Amino acid sequence: MDISTLIKLATKRINSLKTANPNIEADLLMSAVLAKPRSWLIAHNDYQLTKVEEKKFNNLVKKRLLNQPIAYLIGEQEFMGLKFKVNKNTLIPRPETELLVETALQNYAKNTLYLDVGTGSGAIIISLANKLKDKAKYLAFDISQKALVVAKKNSQLNQVDKLISFRSSDLLTLIIKQNTLLRGVEQLVICANLPYVPTAYLKKLTKPDNKSLAFEPALALAGGADGLDLYRRLAKEIKTVKNKNKLLKIVCLAEIQPNQANKIKNILGAKTLILKDYCHKDRLAVAEF
Ligand code: GLN
Repeated sequence: MDISTLIKLATKRINSLKTANPNIEADLLMSAVLAKPRSWLIAHNDYQLTKVEEKKFNNLVKKRLLNQPIAYLIGEQEFMGLKFKVNKNTLIPRPETELLVETALQNYAKNTLYLDVGTGSGAIIISLANKLKDKAKYLAFDISQKALVVAKKNSQLNQVDKLISFRSSDLLTLIIKQNTLLRGVEQLVICANLPYVPTAYLKKLTKPDNKSLAFEPALALAGGADGLDLYRRLAKEIKTVKNKNKLLKIVCLAEIQPNQANKIKNILGAKTLILKDYCHKDRLAVAEF
């Protein structure tokens, strides 16, 4: 069959998921199978797929109908206008996290070190390095070696690998052990999209729930009883860093769920600002230390 017929059929099937753009999803799957941009599909919509290509396409559609996230099926996700490879070891970057990046950019000052703690696919730190280039320094930590492999690959694909140091670290452990990482730094901007989903909520999810969360790594999502366990630890560790470096200005940007705004203020301090995302929901805590 040709591209146009297959896409029409797939769009109809994907439509049963009630997602926003079934036609775009069908296009994305086709473009992944043929390894061609979407514009190519339009110009060649009468191209006859080989049997192998057709089978590959239909398999992806089937997986999509089982609610597998489109980003995992095509192996990538766009974020801040850049492309990021993703796989089951990394969270899929969300549009609301662009608020964290925009706020981090606004906090730029001379001699800033950006530290992305729990970097996952590297989306945050790579977007920052892509914008600010060598005007700042960049460090990215993750406890997952598998995530670090993906993040490093993404930094190469986006040509910022020379600017960012990717290191294995459980939250701020490495920077606490190796204070020399802060040499010459006047401002440390900690970017944290740590796991913040209440663990019990994740346990209840089933794959047919049409929730991409059910397919994503629990390590990147599960935040304990109220979702804030890791932010509690992070706050303690920030205080340790501050005590060792009294003149260092530390800004912490922490992504949250809208219903965590009051609690995060208790954790990061009463002066914490809460910013709303583009859907007008409380999404980002900004705290200074
Ligand atoms: N934003 C994710 C969600 O869909 C959660 C990400 C995280 O735990 N950091 O809820």
